[in-house]
Amino acid sequence: MAANTGKKGGGKLGEYERKRDFDTTPEPSGKKRRQGKGMPRFVVQEHSARRLHWDLRLEREGVAVSWAVPNGIPNDPSENRKAVHTEDHPLEYLDFEGEIPAGEYGAGTMRIWDRGTYEVEKWEKGKIVFSFSGERLSGRYALFRAGAGAKDWMIHRIDPPSEARDPFPESVVPMLAKLSKLPASDDDWGVEVKWDGVRAIAYCRPGRLELQSRNLNDVTAQYPEVRGLSRQLGARDAVLDGELVAFDEEGRPSFERLQQRIHQTSESVVRRRMKSHPVTYVIFDLLYLEGHNLIDEPYNRRRELLEDLGLAGESWQVPRYSTGPAKELLEASAEQKLEGIVLKRLDSRYAPGKRNGSWLKVKNIGRQEFVIGGWQEGEGRRRNSLGSILLGYFDEHGALHYAGKVGTGFSDRDLDELLRRLRPLARKPNPFAGRRGPRQAHFVEPELVAEIEFRELTAEGMVRHGSFKGLREDKPTAEVGVKRPAG
Ligand code: MN
Repeated sequence: MAANTGKKGGGKLGEYERKRDFDTTPEPSGKKRRQGKGMPRFVVQEHSARRLHWDLRLEREGVAVSWAVPNGIPNDPSENRKAVHTEDHPLEYLDFEGEIPAGEYGAGTMRIWDRGTYEVEKWEKGKIVFSFSGERLSGRYALFRAGAGAKDWMIHRIDPPSEARDPFPESVVPMLAKLSKLPASDDDWGVEVKWDGVRAIAYCRPGRLELQSRNLNDVTAQYPEVRGLSRQLGARDAVLDGELVAFDEEGRPSFERLQQRIHQTSESVVRRRMKSHPVTYVIFDLLYLEGHNLIDEPYNRRRELLEDLGLAGESWQVPRYSTGPAKELLEASAEQKLEGIVLKRLDSRYAPGKRNGSWLKVKNIGRQEFVIGGWQEGEGRRRNSLGSILLGYFDEHGALHYAGKVGTGFSDRDLDELLRRLRPLARKPNPFAGRRGPRQAHFVEPELVAEIEFRELTAEGMVRHGSFKGLREDKPTAEVGVKRPAG
């Protein structure tokens, strides 16, 4: 179907009428024909259908000529966005908002995102140049055919936006918290729960969401349940910082449960595990919103803007921070068997990739990552299988030091996974320098990182009463050094 190029009356609304049952849908039937007076009108409807999109309709010769724009009307002249030409709609549709019932064409919620008038500069077959005067939209735009099919169009902003916009960040390295004891005074700190999961930054643009891990890998496909967040943000551009957390039956973050999600890339496994081991994206920071980069704004301001977004869903949440006494909050977190708390200076800016002391983590139990330098066989049931792993950490010269061994905390699945991952890394020489650990062991290239919980870390950096919590895929081995609370 070509753009409406001037044929009047007749079957212009034929396709519109054929697709709909007006006994069921509240959409206008278009029986009345009403010609607009003065400047022609436009509407952009946010249509939360099977896929969120925006419908642009331009009043023209007795009908509303229509396009579906999957990623919203672009603000930035450097971007062409897809616009799928759809059937002409009746003029009454310019005012339509409502629920299109399930089973009907376009089932979902339709609401008006912007409306106003527009001025045509050029209306040719396959190319339209016009200016919007709406509440949100203004400026010159072109709609033009691009692609093989008659429905394949693009929309492009011609003039620069009047308001200066900060560029949308493509990737931000998350800010980090320094392991610490409680600060002497807690007056100027916001306190959050320390969420035991994996860090992820969410890049949200209309109709799209990308999740990046702390080493900037795209992990979007691994956590499909978080995608609905983009629908809630609608046409707002935002960059969020948070933690992907799997909660156990008691509602506590479980890093063990999360293990079932971290390594999965096969789509069918991800679908199944999404049901058996769902994750929640726990959002605690807002780095960009609608053209404004917020990283230089103070923490409490960023949190205020984040809370104003009202984000809440089955698979995402924004827990509030607290300014109460940190000591009590730490004790409460210990009672609830949480890993600890994070303190954030209320006036601090977001420092990407930095551990500058503006964020502090205070832990209830010792827990950190170690490099696996080898393994030993077990006894009894675990004879000929893995009994314990040998832990190490790198010093500032790049030498791997032995930090003890851990023989508990493994599920059967962990044992299989560890052996499968460790066997190809086998090497003869002992990789440990300085303190070298046991002489008899299956040594491996120090490439895997294990998360270990322990009661004590000795002054010599040896783990006592350690327990395996899982493999970490998001921490480079070189970053694994022994860490102790400072201050
Ligand atoms: Mn639509």
